[in-house]
Amino acid sequence: RTCNKCELVISAPDRESWPDTTLPEVVLAGRSNVGKSSFINTITNRKKLAYVGNTPGKTRLLNFFNIDDELMFVDVPGYGYANISKKQLMQFGDMMEDYFANREQKVGLVLIVDSRHKPTEDDVTMIEFARYHQMNTIVIATKFDKLKKNERKKNLLKISEVLELPVESIIPFSSETRLGVDAAWKKIESLY
Ligand code: GDP
Repeated sequence: RTCNKCELVISAPDRESWPDTTLPEVVLAGRSNVGKSSFINTITNRKKLAYVGNTPGKTRLLNFFNIDDELMFVDVPGYGYANISKKQLMQFGDMMEDYFANREQKVGLVLIVDSRHKPTEDDVTMIEFARYHQMNTIVIATKFDKLKKNERKKNLLKISEVLELPVESIIPFSSETRLGVDAAWKKIESLY
């Protein structure tokens, strides 16, 4: 799949800035530094669509990407910064609750996790958010190229156990080797 027209529509600081469209929206979330920007760039085949190395300060903007006038990616700020203030954490929670509770065209969550590590409490919270709002969830286990052969299956099982999802629903992915690009698209397209 190639992206003919993939572009950032808006970085929205509040609900009033959400774009006025009816395209189905797929939310992309994950811890900071997990490889979310790389994931977006890899599956759209655009080197710089999502800015790799997002700054920790941008914790309050939802980035809406128009993907070929077919769907929107809604890129959620990376979470899990050690030094985030309580106020910032509340703002993040309010922003997500506002979006999940009020955005009609949301169709699913793509949670990006690091295949080397056990998902965190923040990841679990994000999945619970999605479950509560009846959104389907896809899990991308990225940086899979960094795993040793004997770690691959074990780590996928661990992720599925912590997130309480079947192991088949977790997609091994690598922005380095492009492993999982087709599988990710197939799952994303099944959401809408
Ligand atoms: P974000 O903060 O979640 O958007 O993470 P980035 O996409 O900026 O990636 C964080 C770091 O991990 C960067 O140095 C990337 O080059 C690296 N990275 C991301 N995905 C992969 C991957 O699949 N394999 C490897 N080896 N490195 C990756």
